[in-house]
Amino acid sequence: LDVVNKIAAGEIIVAPMHALKELLENSVDAGSTIVEVVVKEGGLKLLQITDNGHGIEANDLPILCERFTTSKLQNFEDLMSIGTYGFRGEALASISHIAHLKVTTRTANSSCAWQAFYADGKLTPSKPGQSADPKPTAGRLGTQITVEDLFYNIPNRRRAFRSPSEEYAKVLDVITRYAVHREGVAFSIKKYGESGTGFSVAAAATKIDRIKQAYGGAVAKELMEFEVGDDKWGFKASGYATNANYSVKRTTLLLFINNRSVESSAVKKAIEQTYQMFLPKGGHPFVYLCLEIDPGRVDVNVHPTKREVHFLNEDEIVELVCDHLRESLAKVDT
Ligand code: ADP
Ligand code: MG
Repeated sequence: LDVVNKIAAGEIIVAPMHALKELLENSVDAGSTIVEVVVKEGGLKLLQITDNGHGIEANDLPILCERFTTSKLQNFEDLMSIGTYGFRGEALASISHIAHLKVTTRTANSSCAWQAFYADGKLTPSKPGQSADPKPTAGRLGTQITVEDLFYNIPNRRRAFRSPSEEYAKVLDVITRYAVHREGVAFSIKKYGESGTGFSVAAAATKIDRIKQAYGGAVAKELMEFEVGDDKWGFKASGYATNANYSVKRTTLLLFINNRSVESSAVKKAIEQTYQMFLPKGGHPFVYLCLEIDPGRVDVNVHPTKREVHFLNEDEIVELVCDHLRESLAKVDT
């Protein structure tokens, strides 16, 4: 059974970036205003995330890493909704099957923090011969998740990662996306043992500041803010997109659907086509697009191993968004 769990986990968590995405979403879900990440070897050796969210009750620690353990599903509607982040309690369980996992957490009503170690979905002793029970420890309000030696038990996978710096770049990409999206939350990431941060943004930073910090001043000064929606198709779209003065070699699309960072090649393609007539040949835009869609219309079969998302009336919605962008682009003098 552990082998089956390990294989399933390895499909959900393919690279450090996938673990970080889940952990970031958990921190944000917990109402954190500060989220700090430390990585070693691009997250393969160490991926540690510390937040100041509401913490996890000590009583919940024994079952924390069992599959489908979640505090976020209240009813069937929730199950159909990706409005709530997370794939129904599979993230921590998956990580525990393919890495060494340590959780230190403290809630507001607890006088101390609690620390627990996990392997294969269950509590495990920190050292052989010791008890596996969570132990009281000193610690601040919030949660720290430490993931060490990702894929230690899948040697082929581990060997397939040639370059930690490539993984670091992907991990950085995940955190900058959420840093742009989540106003009111401070994010930082740094490499273990190195002074200074790789990236950081203050809680008070505005949307534009966040984009500037994460994607550079050249993007930030050529942005158009947009908002468009339609009751008939049950959606609202908003965000920032570069105007025709800005043009780079590759499209950057930050796409959020119901506050979850997702991939959609259909949306990306449509946006690239929209910009084609406005940019020099080979030029591409930066687009940060937040879609709010009735949760019932977002593909409920979206599986954790599938990175692509689909939604009802995708063509109509994408067309309306792109029409709106096209009008804005035409309006701005270049
Ligand atoms: P899901 O997010 O789908 O519920 P996870 O496996 O990601 O599943 O997390 C399981 C549960 O652990 C969450 O429902 C939440 O109750 C708790 N949890 C995980 N990370 C945190 C965190 N950083 N702060 C508070 N609670 C957390
Ligand atoms: Mg989660």
